[in-house]
Amino acid sequence: MRFPLTPDEEEFRQRVRAFCAENLPRSLAKKVRANVELDREDYVGWQKRLAKGGLLCGAWAREDGGQDWSALQSYLFDEECALAGAPWLLPFGVNYVGPVLCKYGTPEQKRRYLPGILSADTFWCQGYSEPEAGSDLASLRTRAALTGDHYRVTGRKIWTTMAHWADRMFCLVRTSIAGKPQAGISFMLIDMKAPGVSVRPIISIEGRPHLNEVLLEDVRVPLEDRVGEENAGWTIAKYLLSNERLLVAEIGKQKRLLAAARFLLGEASIDAREGLAALDVRLAALEWTALRTVREASVGSPSAAAVSMLKIRGSELEQAITEFAVEAMGEAALAYDSNLESKDETALMRNGMIAQMLSSRAATIYGGSNEIQRNIIAKSIVGL
Ligand SMILES: Cc1cc2nc3c(=O)[nH]c(=O)nc-3n(C[C@H](O)[C@H](O)[C@H](O)COP(=O)(O)OP(=O)(O)OC[C@H]3O[C@@H](n4cnc5c(N)ncnc54)[C@H](O)[C@@H]3O)c2cc1C
Repeated sequence: MRFPLTPDEEEFRQRVRAFCAENLPRSLAKKVRANVELDREDYVGWQKRLAKGGLLCGAWAREDGGQDWSALQSYLFDEECALAGAPWLLPFGVNYVGPVLCKYGTPEQKRRYLPGILSADTFWCQGYSEPEAGSDLASLRTRAALTGDHYRVTGRKIWTTMAHWADRMFCLVRTSIAGKPQAGISFMLIDMKAPGVSVRPIISIEGRPHLNEVLLEDVRVPLEDRVGEENAGWTIAKYLLSNERLLVAEIGKQKRLLAAARFLLGEASIDAREGLAALDVRLAALEWTALRTVREASVGSPSAAAVSMLKIRGSELEQAITEFAVEAMGEAALAYDSNLESKDETALMRNGMIAQMLSSRAATIYGGSNEIQRNIIAKSIVGL
């Protein structure tokens, strides 16, 4: 049974599907389906194709260069791209700093930075977390001191996804230690090539180097690259985090993973059939819940608890699908190679599933850990 869509929504879905069929290179879709490690060009090349088709920043307002998509259209776009085998749409420019600049940027900042996001020419990364500031982000310590027409920024950011490829980093820095920790934070745009910026790779559990530590040593940041007022960064930081929340369950990706599990396991044994059916049921329930929540978003704001629930159930399901597939591989799962190159499609898919199983350990941590999501649910429902 399918979630009811209006004829316009169905037409939109078909349009995105047709775009992907025409524009997504088959070789790239094959890499994505097998979860082979992608390079910068794989991500950027696809984003440029979307940009040319007017689909990259569809959720932005028309006056900012977007298409005014509804929350449901954004959901359908995300799902269709994932099902087609498109690379993860890097959210740092399109969904994070772009909307922030649309809302809080000066006309000059918009003129300077929005075109590079709309065309996928500027690669952004997110400098929020620090070694002692993750869940408790407001305790961040990277210091920015104003001297004349610029700040001097010193500190250390961590887990900065794809910082080694980035041109710019949007960053939370401490500009005051007076009052509550949240009250002394500012939002800045940092040039990754500025003197004093260095990037060190962190190899993650699946053996790939997409995470980084970013060291900032007396980095000069012009005053005009502060977004919003000094010490008003916390409000902007929270606005940014609210932007991608409705897509957190990643239904398209889950469907793709389940299809890959089915391909690898076949339905030969009763155990495999039962296991896959149970995962199908969990996915269907999550999909309907996600779609109901997205519908609510078109008539108002969905509750924080509903969105947190999607994050918890989505990340747990991703772990369940990949763990089930890897366990069912038996001994074959022992031969993992993070750099495997092979012409054997099944060997690549198997290896990719193991990589995905390993990397999905992080799904319950990033984007607000599941414990933090449970706190949000408790607060909003039980009032704790
Ligand atoms: C793959 C990956 C990519 C990431 N990419 C980025 C990025 O691009 N940019 C960026 O800025 N950050 C990024 N992060 C960082 C991410 O946001 C943090 O890891 C996350 O916020 C958790 O912070 P932490 O790692 O410091 O853990 P901590 O906050 O130290 O938490 C440790 C444990 O304690 C639990 N805990 C903490 N506080 C509470 C509480 N109040 N109640 C109950 N339990 C609690 C947590 O749930 C967790 O289990 C990424 C992380 C990962 C894993």
